[in-house]
Amino acid sequence: MTMSFSNAELEAFLDESLPAERMAAIEETLRGSDELQQRLVEINGRRDAGLHSLGEIWRRRRLSCPTREQLGSYLLGVLADEAAEYVRFHVQSVGCRCCAASVEDLREQQSAADAEVVQQRRQRYFQSSAGYLRRGKP
Ligand SMILES: [Zn+2]
Repeated sequence: MTMSFSNAELEAFLDESLPAERMAAIEETLRGSDELQQRLVEINGRRDAGLHSLGEIWRRRRLSCPTREQLGSYLLGVLADEAAEYVRFHVQSVGCRCCAASVEDLREQQSAADAEVVQQRRQRYFQSSAGYLRRGKP
């Protein structure tokens, strides 16, 4: 009897993220199957090579660069965890220079904008208290 496993399952097996029964089934089949062993070796090799070249592909092609809006939201801390993790990975681990430059640029814009908002708030506060004072007593 031959059990068949998908590549996705073998990947999950390498990550040890399959249900225990399925892990056991693969392990058992592995012992008697050169073909399955070979596939695992290939998948494992591809993963390592893939991880190594991922950054290069990104750098070269600027694949999957987050949009400027996403980078801006990331800086403001309003991105969902998963997306924020992706941006962090992209900018810090992959080291995308283009996005790192955008982040730097956005950071400057934001701190300028923050200063302006504080300034406006302060003005509004003074204006409203001035109005309040002017209104004074009837
Ligand atoms: Zn990028």
